[in-house]
This record gives sequence, structure tokens and C-alpha cells, in this order.
Amino acid sequence: MRGGMSFRGCLLVLSCAALFGCGAKTAADLALAQQENAFKELSQEDRELALSQWTCPVCRELLSHAGTPVKAELAGETVFFSKPECQVAYEQNPQKFSSARNE
Ligand SMILES: [Zn+2]
Repeated sequence: MRGGMSFRGCLLVLSCAALFGCGAKTAADLALAQQENAFKELSQEDRELALSQWTCPVCRELLSHAGTPVKAELAGETVFFSKPECQVAYEQNPQKFSSARNE
């Protein structure tokens, strides 16, 4: 009867995981899911860069808030912006935003 016992134990673990998986959805989990969805158009390398940057240096919002982020090369550095308007704002005043990024 040991087989029967472990089968029941297995079901218990599965239903717990389903329960907690649902209940534990935090704002951070949702943000991560949103990011992953917006970043799926990017290459693996870009996705990792965008994930490490996480927020737009201009509007300070999540990079994913307006969909797929815009990639730019600035002074040999890859920077992502949440939308083209943010890239324009950055290029008009890079000093302002790059100093904010280094804080
Ligand atoms: Zn932005």
C-alpha cells in the first residue's frame, strides 16, 4: 500500500503548489511577467541587458510599460528606453539623465 500513500502525498503537494502559486502573485511578480512579455521581441543578449537596467532612465517607469523598449547605443554603452520619446529626451539632454543613472 506504499504506492497509494505516495500518490496521495503527490496530489497534496500539487494542490498546495497550485494554491500558493496563485495566492503569492505580488506586484513584483506581475511586473516581471510584464517585462518578460515586452522583452520577448529582443535578442537573448538584449533581454539580459534590459532586465539588468529594469527602468527607463528618462521617465523612471518600467522599461516594459509602453511595450518593447527602444535600444540605443550611447557613448559606447547600450541603453534602453521605454519609448522613442524617451530616447529623444535623453539625446537632447544626456548630461541630465546619465548623471541621474549613476546615482
Ligand atoms: Zn521612458
